[in-house]
Amino acid sequence: MIALSLAEIAAVVGGQTHDIPDPSVQVTGPVVRDSREVVPGSLFAAFVGERVDGHDFAPQVVEAGAVAVLASRPVGVPAIVVEDVQSALGALARHVVARLGATLVALTGSAGKTSTKDLIAQVLSTKAPTVFTPGSFNNEIGLPLTALTATEETRFLVLEMGARGIGHIRYLTGLTPPRIGVVLNVGSAHIGEFGGREQIAQAKGEIVEGLPEDGAAILNADDPLVRAMAPRTKAKVVLFGESAEADVRAENVRLTDTGQPSFRLHTPSGAADVTMRLYGEHHVSNALAAAAVAHELGMSAEEIATALSGAGSLSRWRMEVTERPDGVTIVNDAYNANPESMRAALRALVAMGKGRRTWAVLGKMAELGDEALAEHDAVGRLAVRLNVSKLVAVGGIEASWLQLGAYNEGSWGEESVHVSDAQAAIDLLRSELRPGDVVLVKASRSVGLEGVAAALLETG
Ligand code: ATP
Ligand code: MG
Repeated sequence: MIALSLAEIAAVVGGQTHDIPDPSVQVTGPVVRDSREVVPGSLFAAFVGERVDGHDFAPQVVEAGAVAVLASRPVGVPAIVVEDVQSALGALARHVVARLGATLVALTGSAGKTSTKDLIAQVLSTKAPTVFTPGSFNNEIGLPLTALTATEETRFLVLEMGARGIGHIRYLTGLTPPRIGVVLNVGSAHIGEFGGREQIAQAKGEIVEGLPEDGAAILNADDPLVRAMAPRTKAKVVLFGESAEADVRAENVRLTDTGQPSFRLHTPSGAADVTMRLYGEHHVSNALAAAAVAHELGMSAEEIATALSGAGSLSRWRMEVTERPDGVTIVNDAYNANPESMRAALRALVAMGKGRRTWAVLGKMAELGDEALAEHDAVGRLAVRLNVSKLVAVGGIEASWLQLGAYNEGSWGEESVHVSDAQAAIDLLRSELRPGDVVLVKASRSVGLEGVAAALLETG
């Protein structure tokens, strides 16, 4: 972070200094909310959680080298006391970001935010120093904490923004105003909380509303609800996708026989070939979004293609491929699932499992509302059509829909089974797996199938 004195911070956040002998002492960073992350020079933000109160850690964080605590009450050690720590953190981030020379890139969408953020960051890093949100640090606390890690050297700041409702992204873009705003897709994630796809589009589109005229709104040409956001911005609109009108598009998309997408990237400044290290064709759309951002920031098609081809996965449980010593390959995609990524994962499984026995260990896709039965049925059918050797559907009613879909598509007997829980799946696989088999493990977050992947790796 950029060094700021306690007096300056107090002024920015409108706080009172308490127990501070010398307000000219500087915070050199980072700003943290977890006492275990405190290092000399830190500012510790004390949040009152459901189970723990950050204020209780005040003496120990100062002991560990924190310069002061950003708190909502005096704590007996150096503190800047404010009414609301979250707003204060936001105000501090806004102040710091305004002083930086960095270009801010913000992205949102229903699926693929973290994957795409990781791609954008890896591509831009090949050009200039880039700071980005770790993991899914995408809310009103994680976002300012990330922005505050930027320094004078930082050229690009890449921020994931999650939306839980109308006005949420507007709040986030108010803290860290992007010059480039990206919307990936509008799916059904959190549809219950929002009330419908139009409302989700309304909420996500806020990311392009505040963009400056010399900025760019990067929109998915293949998603009608995202495309329809174009009139909501005064910035230039750049479309990415497979449709012919897209400014940044992919041609000749195919999967290599290891299951990795390869395509010809077209940008307004040229074309170049990409072969990704990531698995699954859903990453093509994510890669195009990243390419559009990089193009806007002056990178050539060649530079972008090289960077995309070298980009790896920075976040866990997303198509994580591990080979056991006995030659069984485990593909852990247990982070989350939706119909589109289920299909992409199955195709990747089949591509990388050519000539081998393939297992799809699948659980429910959450939050599909009225479409749940049809979507699970369709995934079960696709598994059979793609010739996946074995389908293991794990869990309750949705898993039985998966299995029934497979059954009705022509898979019967031992080719598709329904087991009640993760342990049953582990037991079955432990006794059935043979050297050379490839196993995909995937379901929505709430199912927690990563335990299956972990257990299978342990026995290897
Ligand atoms: P969260 O809301 O949990 O932060 P996210 O939007 O950051 O999620 P990722 O973590 O990148 O999304 O990916 C979550 C899951 O969504 C992945 O495991 C993958 O199955 C799927 N996914 C990734 N990219 C896409 C895409 N472009 N379209 C559909 N599904 C995708
Ligand atoms: Mg995420």
